[in-house]
Order: sequence, then structure tokens, then C-alpha cells
Amino acid sequence: MIPPTSPSHATIQVRDRLSRVTLKLTNTLSRRVERFEPLLPGQVSIYCCGVTVYDLCHLGHARSYIAWDVLRRYLIWCGYAVTFVQNYTDIDDKILNRAAEEGSSMEAVSERNIEAFVADMARLNILPPDRMPRATQSLAAIRHLIEELEAKGAAYSADGDVYFAVMKHAGYGKLSGRDLAEQQDNAAGRVTTQEGARKQHPFDFALWKGAKPGEPSFESPWGPGRPGWHIECSAMVREELGDTIDIHLGGADLVFPHHENEIAQSEAATGQELARYWLHNGMVNVGGQKMSKSLGNFTTIRALLDSGVSPMTLRLFTLQAHYRKPLDFTAEALDAAATGWKGLNAALGLVGSASAASALPAQLPPELAAARTRFVAAMDDDLNTSAALAVLFELAKPLRALANRLERGDGAAAAEAATPALVAQGQLLLELAGVLGLQHEQAVESQAAGPGSSAASPSDAEIEAQIQARQAAKAARDFATADAIRAELQAQGIELIDKPGGVTEWLRG
Ligand SMILES: [Zn+2]
Repeated sequence: MIPPTSPSHATIQVRDRLSRVTLKLTNTLSRRVERFEPLLPGQVSIYCCGVTVYDLCHLGHARSYIAWDVLRRYLIWCGYAVTFVQNYTDIDDKILNRAAEEGSSMEAVSERNIEAFVADMARLNILPPDRMPRATQSLAAIRHLIEELEAKGAAYSADGDVYFAVMKHAGYGKLSGRDLAEQQDNAAGRVTTQEGARKQHPFDFALWKGAKPGEPSFESPWGPGRPGWHIECSAMVREELGDTIDIHLGGADLVFPHHENEIAQSEAATGQELARYWLHNGMVNVGGQKMSKSLGNFTTIRALLDSGVSPMTLRLFTLQAHYRKPLDFTAEALDAAATGWKGLNAALGLVGSASAASALPAQLPPELAAARTRFVAAMDDDLNTSAALAVLFELAKPLRALANRLERGDGAAAAEAATPALVAQGQLLLELAGVLGLQHEQAVESQAAGPGSSAASPSDAEIEAQIQARQAAKAARDFATADAIRAELQAQGIELIDKPGGVTEWLRG
């Protein structure tokens, strides 16, 4: 068990709200919208299925991890102590294939893509998980869990493989709604592969796969081999968070078989419910089709951001749709998001630069209190981020107008921006934007000022992202990358100052 994330200062103001939290979430398990109540009052444990590190992350990942970042930020803002665990799948056929293609190793492919993942997530202002276990580092827990399942008769070994026996587990299919008997009829006569022949039921799945010649393998009581994909999440959830967690997250494409199998493995071993709430995000469509590599409509986060789309524009774009619904990715929709963000960004820039900026007053003026209530109501409604964004746009409106006047050299606008009512409005905007992970971008303003005016110096958000990436590299003992990031920032005139407790401050030279 690890200590939960300490709540930010912003939560202190709303901590008293905790007893009245009325957050409702759609639980895939019950197929209903349910009021959220954690197992332990005031604490939330979350497990999110992470990436298989064989390639760069694409828009589908951005959409998913932004959605869950907003859930996490909102819970923290509500006053909960949240522990967020997300894995790296670093044993997988796709990684092995990639290593073979490029003549490198499974480790080299994984390391490179983990580094890229950390950097991409930091650019999108996604909070790093509290813990990021890797399959290769969780083998003891994985083997232990498989042994337990075998001892309980829920798993059987066959020729160096170990399979989970779905027919022995009552409740298999409860998440996805699959009927085993029906599926067996459909699958009858189609068992032609070697693996299929070893299985007692077509839905039985591998917990451990015996080693194939030339592949990396790990020792086990069943001989050399490697774990199946599903078992790693069951083992990591248990090791990091215990038998029952509050929320399990993932994309809708993971409901079956991955999450169904996680439930079966964990619940067969512990006799306890694995997760009380199962949340799934919708997929990303491009031109009405699901985004996939084979369709050639696949966009990496990196390619999109490097093409000039700002990270906060992408964030705003994804939050305009409900997390459960499919997200249609089109150039027009992205342009519209860019325009929306430009206005919000100008307002946030004004708040940040206002010399009179101060903490949000404890007693908000009635119209601001009402705006905050509308924001909370939207978020409580199964994370209705598009309605929450509407509150931000409304709060930003007068600030944005003032920012425009200031830009045109209207000196009176500065005095207006410093009035207590507008300062409070700005502070509320800043706080609620932060709950959605939206933060001011210097670069967007530079772009708005026209070609040739782009600033050479990185924005505050870019620097913070680099610092996060450097901290992650240090945590992974990758000091070469950490030093390279420091050197790169230094070249741009940014000095990093490491403080005790792992805090890094920075100065512009
Ligand atoms: Zn998983």
C-alpha cells in the first residue's frame, strides 16, 4: 500500500463539501448511473489500464487519459485523497515483433516508448500516476496469483501453458454481458490451433504462456515462459491497492475480454469484488471510422502537437464530448476548439498577469457562487465536461473582452480588470479551469499575434511539462535523459533549481 496523493490547497476550501458530494458515474458493471461512494470515507483508489509500450501514443490514448485525469483532478478538488495506479505492459507480442523488426531488444523498445509516453502525457498536462508498475517488475506477484488460482482449481496447466477455466467461475460474463453457453455453441468446431486444442473451453485464456524458441522468457513453476496480458493487471491491482478498489478505468474496447478476465482472475483468487465502479471511455473516430493503424487514419499525439495544435486545444477538444461517447476527430472540430481555447487562454493570461491577483475569497459573490454550483452540478452529472466548459466560457467572457482592450492599448482596461469583482471572477475561472487541467499557454498568444512574432522562449506550461518529464526520468533512474532535459532548458535560458523533497523551481535567465 502507498500513501495517497495529498490534496492540493484548492481542496481545503471545498473539503466541507465532501460530506455532500453527489457525484454520479455510469458503472459499466451495473449498466446504471450510480452515486459514487468510496469504500473508505474520503479516500479513493483508482486503477487505470495503461499502454502496451511498443509504439508512440495516439489520439485514442490522449482522449482516454485526459478523461481520467479530469476525473482524478475533480475528486482531488472535492477533497478526496486519491491514489492513482496505472501500469505499463512491457511484455507483449507487439513489443517482441517491433524489437525483431528493428533488431533491438524488448527492453530497448519498452524504455524508448515509456520515455515518449511520459513526455507526451506531460505536454497534455496529465498528472503522473502515483505508481506505474511494469509487468517485467511484477513477475513475483503474477506467479503467486497464478499459483493461487491453480490451487483453487480455477486454472489448469497444459504443456507449459496455464489457462483460466472460465466454466469453473460463476459470474464470468457479468461485465460484458456475454453468455458462455451461447458462445461455446458459436465457437464449436472452430478449435483448430494448437493453443485452442489445449483449452477446455474456447473462452479459457492464458495466464502463463510457455516459452517459444528465441523469445525472452522468465522462470516459473510451469517452466520458462511469460505472463498473459490479463493477469498482470489483476496482480498489480492487488499488490498496489488491495483486493477491492473503488474505480477501475479503461477504454470501451477493454470491456471484453480484458476487464472481464481481470474480474474473473481477481475474484476467483480473493473471493472479493475487484472494483466497485467500472468506467469506460468511448473511442475516437476519424471521418466516421474508428481510428486504427490499418485504416491509415492514425494520428500520434506527438505528430499532432508538433504540427502546431496546442496541447490545451487538444485537451479542450476532447472535453467537449462526453467521455463515454465516441469522439469524432475532424479538422473543422479541431479548428473550432482552437478558437474556443484562444478566448479562454486570453482570459486566463489576464488573470495570471493581473498584479492584483489574489486567492479566491472565502465568500463568493452570489453570481460567482452560482457559477461554481453550475460547474459542480455538471461534473457531478457523470462528468459532463461540455457543460462544465460552458461555465468556464461564461466566466471568461468579460475577462477576454478586457484582454482584447488591453492588447489594443486601452489603458482603462487594466484598472477595470483590477476591480475586486473581476479579480474574484478571474480567480474562480483559474481554479475551475485547473479542475479540467486547462492552463494558460504563452505560445498560443504568440501565435495569435501573427507570424514572425513567435517567442523563442518556452511557455510556463512547456517548462512545467519538461520538469515533469525530467522528474519521471529521474524516478526511473534514467539520469541521462534527466540531464538532457536540464541542458535543453538551459539552452533556452531556463535555469532549474532542485529543492529538497523532489521539488524543482525554475527561473528565466
Ligand atoms: Zn488492464
